[in-house]
Amino acid sequence: MESQLVRAAEILESASSVALACHTSPDGDALGTMLGLHHILTSRGISAVSGFPSPLEVPPHYAFLPGAESLTAQPAYPAAPEVMVTVDCGSIDRLDDLRPSAEAARTLVVIDHHGSNTNYGHVNVIDPSAAASALIVFRMARERGWEINSDAAMCLYTGIATDTGRFQFDNTTPEVFRAVADLAEIGVPIAPVSRTLFEEHRLAFMKFLGRVLSRCELDAERQMVISWYDQADLEYFGVTMPETESVIDFIRQAKEAEVALLVKESAPGEIKVSLRSLGGIDVASICVERGGGGHRMAAGYTSRMGIHETIAELKMAVGAAMSERGPTA
Ligand code: 5GP
Ligand code: MN
Repeated sequence: MESQLVRAAEILESASSVALACHTSPDGDALGTMLGLHHILTSRGISAVSGFPSPLEVPPHYAFLPGAESLTAQPAYPAAPEVMVTVDCGSIDRLDDLRPSAEAARTLVVIDHHGSNTNYGHVNVIDPSAAASALIVFRMARERGWEINSDAAMCLYTGIATDTGRFQFDNTTPEVFRAVADLAEIGVPIAPVSRTLFEEHRLAFMKFLGRVLSRCELDAERQMVISWYDQADLEYFGVTMPETESVIDFIRQAKEAEVALLVKESAPGEIKVSLRSLGGIDVASICVERGGGGHRMAAGYTSRMGIHETIAELKMAVGAAMSERGPTA
């Protein structure tokens, strides 16, 4: 890992321009890491283009990130970049319409913290023990003496704050607090950023959330809490998919449950799955088996079945994982 980090840093230091990308439907770590690195590079005089797969819809709670207003999507994204960096993207298929650019890049650098990463780059800086991809970029900057300006600090902070669940998950190590102390010192306005990231929703979203929460069902035998929404729910409340990223964070709070499942019709006929676990069950392996990926405690995939078939199938899968594990103390 260490030598890959140095190789990646050297490639970036000698590049004149870099194309950056993150996974489809990006979360705070994907966007924060990409834009954080973007600002670090441009402040060093390296030109950078950042984007993610179409549709180029930035969730409203990340729209304040410096650079989020000037992202590049297809067909404008470089077709064969000299150097391309993907961040927080565990497999090449999560690049959707940017995948051809990654395949045509002369040098492809992959920076990620997903254990399920398939090492699809020429250089792969993968550290599953890093709380966030943003933390890997922070380490790289510190190791190479790269300046982190206030725009970069805001972006990297967002990656770390979101992927640690506001410094609550078990990936919240002393290193996280040291990094965040440095970023706060550079000038991240913690209170307004926190409100924008986590505590600011349109009333329409809150009413939509009410419906999805009231739909929650508990499978007591498998200690699973389950809910779903479809296009009709989104339309009824006038809510967009990017706005709904945090719904799973409410559902996973059910005390009775060890595993939380949310099945979403994200576009007409497209079914996305979010799984969360308290740690006893490895939801990443369940999702990898179905073509997706993620972390032990948070993972997802795109299902080829309908909402209710997907739920039924996952109940069996989680049940099987529980019986494999055997009774807990
Ligand atoms: P979420 O449920 O919030 O969409 O995703 C949870 C975690 O699983 C994130 O780390 C995300 O990157 C990963 N993940 C979600 N969907 C997929 C997928 O289709 N493929 C892969 N490789 N990872 C996914
Ligand atoms: Mn991510």
